[in-house]
Amino acid sequence: CGIVGYVGPGSSLEVLVGGLKRLEYRGYDSAGVAVLSRDGELGARKRSGKLGMLVDELAENPIHDGGTGIGHTRWATHGGPTDVNAHPHFGDGGKLALIHNGIIENFSELKAELADAGEVFESETDSEVAALLVGRAYRETGDLTEAMRRSVARLDGAFTLLAVHQDAPGVVVGARRSSPLVIGLGEGENFLGSDVAAFVEHTRRAMEIGEDQIVTIRPDSVEVIDFAGAPADSKEFEVAWDA
Ligand code: GLU
Repeated sequence: CGIVGYVGPGSSLEVLVGGLKRLEYRGYDSAGVAVLSRDGELGARKRSGKLGMLVDELAENPIHDGGTGIGHTRWATHGGPTDVNAHPHFGDGGKLALIHNGIIENFSELKAELADAGEVFESETDSEVAALLVGRAYRETGDLTEAMRRSVARLDGAFTLLAVHQDAPGVVVGARRSSPLVIGLGEGENFLGSDVAAFVEHTRRAMEIGEDQIVTIRPDSVEVIDFAGAPADSKEFEVAWDA
């Protein structure tokens, strides 16, 4: 439902929780975050219920903050609104975290294929197949953008996906098909959001991502390609917003 991504020198947790708060108006039933600490550890927390539940959970069971992170508010479509079904979902033995908006139509086929290949599912969501696919592709390629590109080729339906991997600090990769995703351009930091509300507190310079495109943000760069891997042109625009 709501999506936020951040890379930069700031506190991911602050940016993510602040962004998710601004996206609350869309409605949701669960919330979660995944953050890479500065010493390369992936930490994640997720809770069903209001954002306040996640904030309490983070206070009780803190994770190391860092400069790379993703945050999600979920509106359940597949699997009830439980802690386990909340996003992020994990791949590559827990080293990769992924969030998803939308519906993966062919998830049961993919689930059967992945289970045959020995993957173990924790949740009842359609989204977890994407986490496991990107995780497997990362193991093969060692490149999060390429792993995302190979994985989206397997997915039918509508999706915005964001992923981070423990071995790729300072990188958030996103992809979209028939579901919104926008880039927020900062100074030495960059953002992703399901809409500009996710980052308007930090920057008003934004960039559109077209249909069937993949974006890789780092603190000092933004790269957009299409699902075939060719560089894509993106239009920058100024967010007009009465905050
Ligand atoms: N289909 C996914 C789920 O049920 C994502 C729902 C959403 O867009 O929040 O977990």
